[in-house]
Amino acid sequence: ASRVADTWVKTTCGYCSVGCGMLVGVKGRKAVTVRGNPEHPVNAGKLCPKGLSEHYILTAPGRARTPLLRKNRALTAVSWDEALDTMIEKIGALQEKHGSDALGVISTGQLVTEEFYTLGKLVQLGFRTRNYDGNTTLCMASAVSGYKLSFGSDGPPGAYADLEHADVILLIGANIADNHPILCQRLDRNKKRTLIVVDPRVTKTAMMADLHLPIKPRSDIALLNGIAHILIRERLIDENYIAQHTVGYEEFAAYISEYTPERVAAITGLSEETLIRTALLYGRARAAFIGWTMGVNHSTQGAVTVAAINNLALITGNIGRVGASPFSITGQCNAMGTRESGFASSLPGYRKFEKVEDREDLAKLWNISVDRIPTARGLAYPDIIEAAVSGKIKALWIIATNPVVSFPNHSVLEQALRSLDFLVVQDGFHPTPTSEFADLVLPAAIWGEKEGTFTNSERRVSKVNRIVAPPGEARPDFNIFLDLAGRLGVRDELYPGWTMPEDAYTEWQRISHGRLCDYSNFSWQEIEERGGVQWGGSRLYQDGIFQHPDGKARLHSVPCEPFIEQPNDEYPFILNTGRTVEHWHTRTKTAQVALLHNMVPNAWLEMNPADAAQLQLRPHDRVTVFSRRSSVKNVELRITGIVAPGQVFMPFHFAESNSNMVTLGAYDPISREPNFKQCAVRVERS
Ligand code: SF4
Repeated sequence: ASRVADTWVKTTCGYCSVGCGMLVGVKGRKAVTVRGNPEHPVNAGKLCPKGLSEHYILTAPGRARTPLLRKNRALTAVSWDEALDTMIEKIGALQEKHGSDALGVISTGQLVTEEFYTLGKLVQLGFRTRNYDGNTTLCMASAVSGYKLSFGSDGPPGAYADLEHADVILLIGANIADNHPILCQRLDRNKKRTLIVVDPRVTKTAMMADLHLPIKPRSDIALLNGIAHILIRERLIDENYIAQHTVGYEEFAAYISEYTPERVAAITGLSEETLIRTALLYGRARAAFIGWTMGVNHSTQGAVTVAAINNLALITGNIGRVGASPFSITGQCNAMGTRESGFASSLPGYRKFEKVEDREDLAKLWNISVDRIPTARGLAYPDIIEAAVSGKIKALWIIATNPVVSFPNHSVLEQALRSLDFLVVQDGFHPTPTSEFADLVLPAAIWGEKEGTFTNSERRVSKVNRIVAPPGEARPDFNIFLDLAGRLGVRDELYPGWTMPEDAYTEWQRISHGRLCDYSNFSWQEIEERGGVQWGGSRLYQDGIFQHPDGKARLHSVPCEPFIEQPNDEYPFILNTGRTVEHWHTRTKTAQVALLHNMVPNAWLEMNPADAAQLQLRPHDRVTVFSRRSSVKNVELRITGIVAPGQVFMPFHFAESNSNMVTLGAYDPISREPNFKQCAVRVERS
């Protein structure tokens, strides 16, 4: 059959946070092809393998098509009315008996902003539970917390264009060649840059580096402090910027004096010469950019590691200028939109639960009593799971995420799901490892079947458009939320006259007006016409005014602590986890795209040749990975110098070889982000 499209629909990729613009070709009622949008400011026509095959997901076989309710132990097809009435009735009864916070809700960076904003109001003001968080806590909560510590607010200061203009780019814990491929191409266009990559593995990105720093696991804070030490010693700092725009320099400088090159070399495993060379490159740069992703965030010290990164940018004035930024590269397509419009770790518009003026402001805008807005955030994602285990959370509503594969220390997660009295899973796919536990499955439309906006890592808001109708009885999440609001009797009050996502956007513009993340300057139509608009302009903090009450940024003295589970004789390896370019998160989508699945159908374990020789293991042996918690069986062994001796690596995508069987349930005390990156394991031939 001809694949030539009759029409082309403009939209934004629904996988990663790069936010590439694309054109989806439609023939009849079917999406038949995809190409990059040559006019889009992010990707100028380019797409990675996931983007280029994204239309296939719209005809994937494993879709949830009808509401399913567990009756006599089996999930049974029911009408939407029965499904939603049952949900309201069951949750209501549990809240009546155990209090309104007995409901937990876990949402996702996969929703469009309009859905997320609608959901926040529904959860907090309709269902009246504070125990609401997103799967974004598994990926970028530490970036949020770190920005708040340093700048007084969340919000990545820079832009992707900085990758093309910086003369020094330092990537730390960020394998963008696999995980953000189009950003990697933009970086590669900058032929004048010096690229420094900090990563314990020789990733594809590390192979592109002018200088690769293969630090010991979790020695990143020592490295950052050590660079600051040399910058101060060599007077490669911007004293005017420090004096005018920061607080805490003297204390910071005194603290950092302990991080001598000699000490930092011992902690990181790098030579003193390499440390000095790195610091001089960064300090002498006209414009220096630091980008990071999960290698930093997935840590019990993630939030303060981000603050340590921000310290470097602040003491050298590398912020708010072209090419100069400390920049968190986000994970999911709309992680940023959920950060801004959310109701989980903060109130919409980066307002704070604990700030009375912020609550009063919102109450006035919503025309509700301020008493209805919680004065503190509820439980974060890991704490919701623990509360389910302990019996405080009785009902859980999971939306477009797959914790059975993505949550660390699988056995606790499974225990939590089995302890619940009522589990609702709302997803575009069924069965998934998580929906199999559900008492109620709500079939949702996915990317390409609904409309709204995504905000990418550089704060660019782009339109996501409907290409085809959802299958069966699946509905857009937006419609499900409004229907539930009607059944709770709050639709007219919370969503007066709303029928379309644009109605939510219009209110969100009003709510965000005057805030740092101000969407009020660009209309629904303008987003489409301009191919995406950055809130806050190209760069934040160009005037050096930060969001702390005195307008100044904070320098933080950050201690470098050893990670929790050190290797020993019984568990001698440190397991690191990550992604590969062909797949997305838990493969709910990409396992159903034959092109992507066939390229990488199974998990593997990387091990250094010296370790393999000692264990008498050979390439392609099947091995089992054991930790103190459980094991992952029958994984293919790859023997490679990509990983250092004493370390092993596994991708986290695969339900059948789930790395989270063995990962650690330890969390950052500030952000509550899990420590996915280091746990002690043993490897044996299966
Ligand atoms: Fe989609 Fe990210 Fe690939 Fe761009 S880089 S096409 S946004 S997955």
